[in-house]
Amino acid sequence: MFEKIKGQEKAISILKNAIETDKIAHSYLFYGPDGVGKFTTALYFGMAINCHSTLEKRPCGICPSCKKFLSFSHPDFLFVFPFPKEKDKDISIEGEIKVEKILQEYESYIENKIKTPWKEFHFTKNIGIRIASIRMLENRIKLSPNEGNYKVYIIENAETMGIQAANAFLKTLEEPPTDTVLILTTSKPNSLLPTILSRCQQVPFLPVSRKIIEKELEENKFLENIEAKMFARIAHGNMEKALQLVEKGTTASREETIEFLNILIAQDDLRFIDFANRYKTSKTQSQLMEIISHLIIWISDISYFKNFPSEIVNLDKTDMLETLYHQNPNIDEYAPKILEFLELMLKKLAGHVNPQLIIIGIYNKLSEIFFG
Ligand SMILES: [Zn+2]
Repeated sequence: MFEKIKGQEKAISILKNAIETDKIAHSYLFYGPDGVGKFTTALYFGMAINCHSTLEKRPCGICPSCKKFLSFSHPDFLFVFPFPKEKDKDISIEGEIKVEKILQEYESYIENKIKTPWKEFHFTKNIGIRIASIRMLENRIKLSPNEGNYKVYIIENAETMGIQAANAFLKTLEEPPTDTVLILTTSKPNSLLPTILSRCQQVPFLPVSRKIIEKELEENKFLENIEAKMFARIAHGNMEKALQLVEKGTTASREETIEFLNILIAQDDLRFIDFANRYKTSKTQSQLMEIISHLIIWISDISYFKNFPSEIVNLDKTDMLETLYHQNPNIDEYAPKILEFLELMLKKLAGHVNPQLIIIGIYNKLSEIFFG
């Protein structure tokens, strides 16, 4: 099943080698950017070391043990993740959550993880790995495996442990029982205690390459090449993000981008005022972020227009690309500056600058470059 994880050859080869030589470490740190398969790989690794199938088929995904892992119901598997806190003692040492609202969110998170792991999940409050979760983990670790070879503990986003939780966890990490495998995942390894880092075998995960995302979207999500290329660019190495885009379908934000560029080409300031009025509220932030991501693709397309036509994404809009290219053929000179400017606008949006101000800034900047 490891072949389902795309673009992580190094991590997979480290783990397969451990399985084949039966040299399983007590604790691993899977580190790398968000949305590249750290959790799924951890789950498959836990499955593989408990799988009933022949060595080369592990994890098979169909034996009773694998099936229990896939439904998160294996008695030797514990999944610890950050979630909101109501009060200090709202989780018992056996893992019973006593506050109804928290329990609901906890269960919805797990359900999402099983059924649609690429989907974003939003908790209602700030989250973190709780000392109570670590106490529960300690309690479970003391028991011997119920039906598998190894007990498997996945601690997701381990950097969200508070100092108290981290210190409690460190004790577990220092003397784990032989039949226990702890897998920590994080996109911020530098936020972990150095003493935790040094006790884990480190397994690096990389951003997924654009080509691999493109291929995945074309072959398994049946997208047209133009769309696959577009989503792969917008996703910036994050496979989950790419799958979210497929699900949402960004056709709407692409249409908006084309409308914006048509207004720009016509230099129709009145129509632009109407357009900009759609972005008055902060709710439009993520929509505008997608439009800016599209604009980044358009600027790259204009710069490929003359010499690298095979790199163009918006192949169905070459007339518009041509118009913009001829407005200012010095593209090699200004493209890096606009791209830098658009990246800055993305950062400002993420920092909650008003979307309307951002789109006005972009319109003025592009007008100056193409029609100044
Ligand atoms: Zn199996």
